This record gives sequence, C-alpha cells and structure tokens, in this order.
Amino acid sequence: MTPKEAAKANLENLYRIFTIPEAPDSTLGAIDQAITRDVAGFLQAHIVALERSLEDIEKDFADPEIPEEPAYVSDYTEFIKEKLVAHSVHTAAPGFVGHMTSALPYFMLPLSRIMTALNQNLVKVETSKAFTPMERQVLAMLHRLVYARDDDFYRRWMHDSTHALGAFCSGGTIANITALWTARNILCAPSGDFRGIAREGYLRALEHLGCRGLAVLVSRRGHYSLGKAVDLIGLGRDNLVRVETDDNNRMDPAALCSELARLRDEGIRPLAIVGIAGTTETGNVDPLDELADIAVEQGCHFHVDAAWGGPTLFSERHRHLLRGIERADSVTLDAHKQLYVPMGAGMVLFRDPAALRAIEHHAAYILRQGSKDLGSHTLEGSRPGKAMLVHAGLSIMGRKGYELLIDLGIERARLFAGKVRRHPDFELMTEPELNILTYRYVPAWAQAAMARADAETCRQANAVLDRITRLIQKEQREAGKTFVSRTTLQSARYERQSLTVFRVVLANPLTTEEIIDAILQEQCRIAGREEIRQLLAYLAQILGADPSPRP
Ligand SMILES: *Cc1c(COP(=O)(O)O)cnc(C)c1O
Repeated sequence: MTPKEAAKANLENLYRIFTIPEAPDSTLGAIDQAITRDVAGFLQAHIVALERSLEDIEKDFADPEIPEEPAYVSDYTEFIKEKLVAHSVHTAAPGFVGHMTSALPYFMLPLSRIMTALNQNLVKVETSKAFTPMERQVLAMLHRLVYARDDDFYRRWMHDSTHALGAFCSGGTIANITALWTARNILCAPSGDFRGIAREGYLRALEHLGCRGLAVLVSRRGHYSLGKAVDLIGLGRDNLVRVETDDNNRMDPAALCSELARLRDEGIRPLAIVGIAGTTETGNVDPLDELADIAVEQGCHFHVDAAWGGPTLFSERHRHLLRGIERADSVTLDAHKQLYVPMGAGMVLFRDPAALRAIEHHAAYILRQGSKDLGSHTLEGSRPGKAMLVHAGLSIMGRKGYELLIDLGIERARLFAGKVRRHPDFELMTEPELNILTYRYVPAWAQAAMARADAETCRQANAVLDRITRLIQKEQREAGKTFVSRTTLQSARYERQSLTVFRVVLANPLTTEEIIDAILQEQCRIAGREEIRQLLAYLAQILGADPSPRP
C-alpha cells in the first residue's frame, strides 16, 4: 500500500478510532503502558532535550496548515514523543523547586483517565449525574475546612438547588474573578427602581450608590489575577489599590486605613479588601483577623486569596497562621497547587450559601430555575469533572496525609533557609513563613563591604548583583539539573530598593536535603564562570573591596 492508499484506508475506517484501542506494541500503546507502570521513570527517560531554545522548538510547530489526509496514530505519537515530550519541562523533578507546579500522587493519572473516559460536563445535571452531587460535596468539604460550620449547616445547604457553598473552576484566576464579580453584584443589588448592576450596568450602579467609583484593595504582593478581575468587572485597573506591606511582605493595616481614607475623600467606595494567605512570591500571610475587622468597619466584602496557602489549614501545627480566614466572605483555593491535583482545578468558597445567587444565570434549555445545574452559579460553561480528583486526594490521603505534606514543605523551607543563612556566600532575602523563601548569591566579601557602604554605593552594588542573580538563574535553568525561579522584591534592608532574587517553592515531598545541597552547590559553581567572575570583579571595584582568593 502506498502512503496515500494507507491514509485512505485509515479514513474509511475512521469509526475504528472511536472503538478499537491501540495494540500494546504500537508507539501509543507502549507509551501508555510505560506511563502506567512508572510515570516518574517515563518522565525521567523521555524529557531529554533540555538545551534546545524555545525559538528552535518553535520551528517544529510552525506550519499553520491543517493536514489534509488522516495519519496513523502511531506515526503521530512518534512526533509527540520526539517533539513535545522530549522538550517539556520536568515539573515533577525533585530539583525543580522554582514554581508551584510539582509532582502528582501516582493515582491521579489513572483516575484522570476514568474521568476522561466518562467525559461528563458539569455545567448541567443532564450530562453529569453523579458528578454534580460529588462536586457539591467537595465544595462542602473545603468549605468546612475553612469555615467549620456545624453538621446541620451542611445538611441544609450542600445539595440545595437554590444555594451553593462555592464554585468549582479551572484555577485561582477564575476563582478570584468569581469572588469579586459576586461581591460587586451584592453591593449593587436591585433596590427600589434600580434593577441591579447585572441588568443595568456600572454607570447606573454608581448613580444609585452615589459614588464616583469602586475600588478593590490588596497588598503590593497581590496576585496579577486581581488586576484582570477589576478590569473584567468594570472597575478598571487603576481602581485596584496596592497597599504598602511591612518588612515581612504582609499588608500594613495602617497603610490600608490611610488608603481607605484617601478613597473616601475622592468619593470612591471600597468594594472589597483582599487578604492573601500565602503570597505567590514570598509565601507570606496577611494579618487576616485585622483585615476582617477593617472590612466590617467599612461594610465591604472581605476576600481571602488562599490559592497557595489554603491547604495550610490541614496542619494542626501551622493552621493558626491563617487565623481570621474563617471571617472572610469568600476564599479562593487552588486545587492544582497544594491539593496535588493535575492542572486546571480551583475553587471559590462563600461563607453565605446565598451569596452566589448574585451572579445566578438561567437559560431556557439548561440551567432551568430550580434545577441543580452547577452552571447557573459558575463563570465557566462546559466544565470537566475535575472535582473527582480533589475528592480522590481528600479521600485517599485524608486530612492527615495533607497535613504531612504541608508540615514537610514548611520544615524543608526552614531547612533550606538555615543553609542559606549559614552559607557565607548567600543572603537570605525573605524568611519562609510557609514553604516559600527568597535569597540571592552575594559573596562573603561583598556582604561585609555592603554592611559598611553608603546607600548610593549599595544601590550600585545591588544593580550588579541583580545581573548576577539573573545570569545564575538562567544558566541553572538551561543546565536543566535543578531549577529555582526568580522575582523582584523591595527589600527593607536596602531602603526598599527593588532587587532580583531567587525564589524557591518547597512542595515536592521528594525534594531531599541532598537535593537542596545540590541546588546551592550548583549555584556556587555557576558563580565561578568567567562571565560572572568579571561582574564580581566589577562589584569589588564599586565596593572598594578585596575579593578573597577563590578556593
Ligand atoms: C496561583 C495563584 C493565583 C492564580 O491561580 P491560577 O490557578 O494560576 O489561575 C492567584 N492567587 C495566588 C495567591 C496564587 O498563588
């Protein structure tokens, strides 16, 4: 058979694609089996081409033409193996401690296949019968973790068709948007001849409220998704007010109060105060209790973005760090972070089971009034049954399992911080409160000289150190053995100058002490390279310091 004839035969047998599975000795079948046997081994063996640049990889994905003829699945899978898998990022590697994406418990993969096989659509009960009650149960489980209401409360509301304890969605961004959208619609609810913002829009709502605008207040460390949220709900990005933080990256309540006073003078009303439980860059927790007091005083919505830090509530030892979260009107949680569920799962929970009625939407053919369709309370329409994987994690690992993971992460972060602090050539930039820390490479001689230098000299030295940090991070990433991320932070130690720092997230239970040592050793080794040695010589010049001889 010529390739053309073969393709034709394949086309004629298209129904086979929907019915007959791949033989185990085909390329796809073999990969399938390899993944089933040992995912970690598969990833280790097949993610191999670390040195190729993104621009080079783009050449494999440059053709905009849809193939005219069908192809064999195995041929296609060869392409996937060589061009996609080989150049992917090994996020599950224990030395990959730069981002919030880590290894998955082994059972998530086969369970995901069951989920995919069932292909339920959670927008409506007609396409997701058992999945709908399960998702409501998952929301209740996490609602109870945050708000700890009594059994009667959950019996009454969990499966009630006109109420919802929260909304399941694809991640923290949609969760934050849903929270602020709901808060907006509650503040601008129908009253008198005003039929509500959902019907009449923002301008009429402001007329009705008698103010010039609405604002959302969050600390400088707030996640960028909040910028998208205020844009989307019509407030405008200028009305996301960034409140100053203290030296530990926590919102300063006094600064919050003065921003609120300024807004009042300008005729702008606070829609919501957002507290963060685990900032994305430094893992710090805002003083939630104090923020709750201020929100009550202001009569505004109190939202807590616990996308990262929420699961800290599983830990008996550390849950006190989130004290006050139970007073939030709404809470964002990301399941694809510290609930160890595959990408694409988040939630927003509401203290008041009636809150989500503010965004309720009904349609004729689905989402009928009184139906239990989840789609009437979600921003997204068609949605996968990801709640099943949260249910699986909670059921299989239990509270104690998650507690172990949380405690381990915090302990490892402290261990890491201790090593950085004791190492002569590193400077710890933020102490880990949860399992995130930041630091940078500063040789001992430079640290000593900077301690004596004036502010202007330090500023110049820091600019060189920023370049060194960026170079080390880039080289380490490209070498592909270990990975830390980087960010910029204002440092209290250096008169609030913005500094580039390494950021480490310790959420993979397989990240051992040996791996932590290897990460630091590799950074020191990279610092010995010619390009960085030259920068260090320049740094010595600026500081008038004498770099100690290299060992
Ligand atoms: C990750 C994160 C988000 C956004 O979540 P996505 O799942 O990426 O949409 C929001 N807030 C915080 C604090 C986060 O860490």
